[in-house]
Amino acid sequence: MKHQDVWQWHGDSEQHSTRDLVVGSMFCIGKNYADHIAEMGDAVPGDPVVFLKPPCAYAPSGAQVRIPSISQNMHHEVEAVVVVGSPMVDVAPEQVWEHVVGYGVGIDFTLRDVQRKAKDMGLPWTVAKSFRHSGPVSPLIPTDGQPIDTSLEISCTVNGTEKQRSTIDHMQRTIPELLSYLSQLFELRPGDCVFTGTPAGVSQVVAGDRIAAKCSGGVELEVDVV
Ligand code: MN
Repeated sequence: MKHQDVWQWHGDSEQHSTRDLVVGSMFCIGKNYADHIAEMGDAVPGDPVVFLKPPCAYAPSGAQVRIPSISQNMHHEVEAVVVVGSPMVDVAPEQVWEHVVGYGVGIDFTLRDVQRKAKDMGLPWTVAKSFRHSGPVSPLIPTDGQPIDTSLEISCTVNGTEKQRSTIDHMQRTIPELLSYLSQLFELRPGDCVFTGTPAGVSQVVAGDRIAAKCSGGVELEVDVV
């Protein structure tokens, strides 16, 4: 049994200096696209909505994601994911990209029925969001200190049918704003990542479904729900 994962790299990964970067904490942002906030019937938040997944939530492309037995309604949420390469404490938005080593696309799998029950009772979402393999991520595109273009497009299909597609310029808060905010509360460490929120189109997946996510730059993530 494996107890840690390392990030996978797109393309000529053997040459990449951070090829042995271990997957760390997975910081996740909720309610960051207006169209998804509307489909959930939620209010636009004041401060960013932040939750975490543990490293065991990671899975690489090709993984099988098992629906926990406590849920009858697991949803896909496609999200742009950025990975941190150097420690971040109190980093200003304009300095954020110096600390990012790569980006890709991930799925924030969510037990919607369990989350709804927790919300109704005023309890934490943790088990609805943070179970094993709840956060698969594609191979990463290296950024080498450069910003990600705001025209970056993320999309996902279920069994070949498109469910979600958006560009990251539809975010309520930009990636530099989010990482700066997180760095004021936490210490972001090499190998940590940030899931930056999902656009509209989330829907239920069931055992036997194949979820395929893509982002600009040619990276792909495919997982099977079992
Ligand atoms: Mn999400």
